[in-house]
Amino acid sequence: MPPGTVRTTCPYCGVGCGLTATAGAGVPAIAGDPLHPANRGAVCSKAAALGETLGMQGRLRFPMVHGRRAEWGQALDLVARHFTDTVERFGPDSVAFYVSGQLLTEDYYVANKLMKGFIGSANIDTNSRLCMASSVAGHRRAFGEDVVPGCYDDIEQADLVVLVGSNLAWCHPVLHQRLLKARAERGLGIIVIDPRRTASCSEADLHLAIRPGTDVALFNGLFAEIERRGAVDREYVDAHTDGFADAGAAAFATAPTLAEIAEICDVPMHRLAIFYDVFIATQRVVTIFSQGVNQSSAGTDKVNAIINCHLATGRIGKPGMGPFSVTGQPNAMGGREVGGLANQLAAHMTFDNPEDVERVGRFWGSRDVASRAGLTAVDMFRAVEDGRIRAIWIMGTNPAASMPDAEAVRRALAACPFVVVSDCEAETDTTRFAHVLLPAAAWGEKDGTVTNSERMISRQRPFMEAPGDARPDWWIVSEVARRMGFSEEFPYRSPVEIFREHAALSAFENDGRRVFDLGAIAHIAELAYAALEPFQWPLPAGATSGAARLFADGRFATPDGRARFVATPYRAPGDAASEYFPLILNTGRLRDQWHTMTRTGKSPRLSGHSPEPTLVLHPLDAARLSVRDGGFARIVTNRGHALVRARLSDEVRYGDVFIPMHWTDANASSAVIGRLVNSLTDPISFQPELKHTPARVEAVTPRWRGYLLSRTFRVPDGAVYWARAAVPGGTMTELAGDREPEDAGAWARMLMGVEDGDGVLEFADVSRGVQRWARLVDGRLEACLFVTRDGGVDHLPPRDWLTELLGASSMDAEARAALLIGRRAGASVDAGRIVCSCFAVGMTALVGVLGSGEATSVEDLGRLLQAGTNCGSCVPELRELVDSHVPQVVSGTAA
Ligand code: SF4
Repeated sequence: MPPGTVRTTCPYCGVGCGLTATAGAGVPAIAGDPLHPANRGAVCSKAAALGETLGMQGRLRFPMVHGRRAEWGQALDLVARHFTDTVERFGPDSVAFYVSGQLLTEDYYVANKLMKGFIGSANIDTNSRLCMASSVAGHRRAFGEDVVPGCYDDIEQADLVVLVGSNLAWCHPVLHQRLLKARAERGLGIIVIDPRRTASCSEADLHLAIRPGTDVALFNGLFAEIERRGAVDREYVDAHTDGFADAGAAAFATAPTLAEIAEICDVPMHRLAIFYDVFIATQRVVTIFSQGVNQSSAGTDKVNAIINCHLATGRIGKPGMGPFSVTGQPNAMGGREVGGLANQLAAHMTFDNPEDVERVGRFWGSRDVASRAGLTAVDMFRAVEDGRIRAIWIMGTNPAASMPDAEAVRRALAACPFVVVSDCEAETDTTRFAHVLLPAAAWGEKDGTVTNSERMISRQRPFMEAPGDARPDWWIVSEVARRMGFSEEFPYRSPVEIFREHAALSAFENDGRRVFDLGAIAHIAELAYAALEPFQWPLPAGATSGAARLFADGRFATPDGRARFVATPYRAPGDAASEYFPLILNTGRLRDQWHTMTRTGKSPRLSGHSPEPTLVLHPLDAARLSVRDGGFARIVTNRGHALVRARLSDEVRYGDVFIPMHWTDANASSAVIGRLVNSLTDPISFQPELKHTPARVEAVTPRWRGYLLSRTFRVPDGAVYWARAAVPGGTMTELAGDREPEDAGAWARMLMGVEDGDGVLEFADVSRGVQRWARLVDGRLEACLFVTRDGGVDHLPPRDWLTELLGASSMDAEARAALLIGRRAGASVDAGRIVCSCFAVGMTALVGVLGSGEATSVEDLGRLLQAGTNCGSCVPELRELVDSHVPQVVSGTAA
């Protein structure tokens, strides 16, 4: 490692890749950590662009009370006083914390300890509720504890990997790269089960585009088929499990025949039969599942229907096999360990067991430990809205955008008597509701641990100073706790002290009852914590290394040591399509954005991949609804509506539509998907059904459209649609509107941030309905605005050319003239949507070399354009492009 290099962990997804940060002249250089077992030096596009997101623009630097800068003491006193008063007057359940999978384990631990241990309520829930609560519940039902049995190596050692509701290629890219490498080396099979044809299908042997929400029927059918064909591992089932008969009966009851299952799932029977044949015939099977399974009103049953199939075949806990939940967030698992979910206690202890409540109370030295589960996310904000909760503290998350029925969440926050938000960003959809804003340290400044999807605990280490008065979350919570009268119980001066206590609690009176046990490091020294290498829990006292796999001996965490089959009768999603809402809205992630874009939205490279909020709909639906590719569409549900760009593709099923989850009011006029989705939840996990909302779509044809390129962004007045994306040196804002401004010149100057006409060039091409304005300051382009009225977007100049001009230190006469006529000499084509963000390779170049025949493979695209040769995140898209542009040869004949 070069001197000055710090080893840390990625702040994004649950793969938990190790990264290195090396100080240099400018921002630290971020790279993959070759020594980290999760990624062995690899990174994806999001991590490769982390350096672009480390700027201080938009950071919350100082505490704010009622919109005014405050000292820490003043803000902390106010928070402590308000929470204490509210608890005294209205009881412990009148307050709540809503926290985040972005918190480090140490942050999470103190927040949970304060709420459950000393305030005496379990009203602390995490945004991980939206992500993987169904997996937690499914694990607990089957294994007796929330335990992921396998490890990433299993994915490489499998002969078949089944991806269920998981776009691994985009949401867990480095894990997908490991999968593809193993496939190239060993030829393992890949089957994708997903209503959408995602990037993960590019290398799949079989894709089952099931009807949304029918996963339970599919796996019940598999379970029944396993039994029908005599493929049950009877010895294993008899020795290590319970409940086989009941689960089998429920599975058979779903649909007794292959034809009936095919009909429920709406897939061809022969393709369904292939899946069943291959699964049953292959011993080493890993079934990876993610949000497509979890975010459902039947999410827990989906998880158990999958686990049932693995238990029936004894394929669990052994190399190359097992059910595998991959988490969305960097520390969703850490939150599960400390009890960050409202229906967990701490250290995998539960409210179901009064001895656990008493045990945790003794360990913490508290008689006020909450004795029953608290309100989970959806119910928590309902309680805020109806006044049961009168003070809420939101840490590191943006529920005003990300929660289902987000408009109700906004109403709740607006009406709540006391809202505290601790965040590293100053302006989010949620911070605007805060009475008190507390500046939190961000990634690169924080110090602690995170746990990835394979139970691997890694260190996040600081390599930058926090700006202004920003402080770590654990410090903020501890300071409030001390001010609430719990000085002795929250004495922490550093994260290692918290980690030691967390590890000690995991081992406290454990005696092998709980798998989660970090007893071996309950007394870890500060230096050892600083140098802690990644390891997989459990690590009980006396152990010198963690465990890659669990349950290999057939002993589970239930009282009798047997795993449980769970009967999972199929039920259709809670809300069905109707005459008014005939389509089904699915939501999900993009490759190059993260959550509500507060970090990734700052990167021009990442923004180039999908610069606008886009609705994907099937061409036949689009034809019926008169929606054009690249045009605009309004999507309406019984909760709200959004106006977004339309893209037509048969990657979604006829009758389904898809919108990414990332846009907020900070970066688009009307694209908050949380406002659209319903708040139905799973009855066991209480996870919301984010992937199945009935909707309708209407074509929208604005009178004018255009774009604004500017160094500084301001929300554009007078547009019905706007969406902004970072570009080098500024912001590109796409615009569309219906009303003509009374004074177009004044409107343009306002958008460009200038009050008089100084330095503003104006040109109108009446015949083509185009108007152009540009503002130059000291010979440099400061802003430009282009508008077309006839819908002829071809009349607008290429955006890439103008972005280049924005980055130039000065413009010569030729460039000024070109700007005025809206055309540059020579090439004048946009690069198109960026596919390879590492080398900024756009669609135009890729399609160009594929169309000309210069390139016929992904390798050719790498050789000619460098595309896909760095992080590899775009390779699945490149493969799709090759497949769709190069004639495939079958038996010597072009097919
Ligand atoms: Fe970070 Fe996930 Fe990418 Fe790894 S795969 S570099 S953890 S975003």
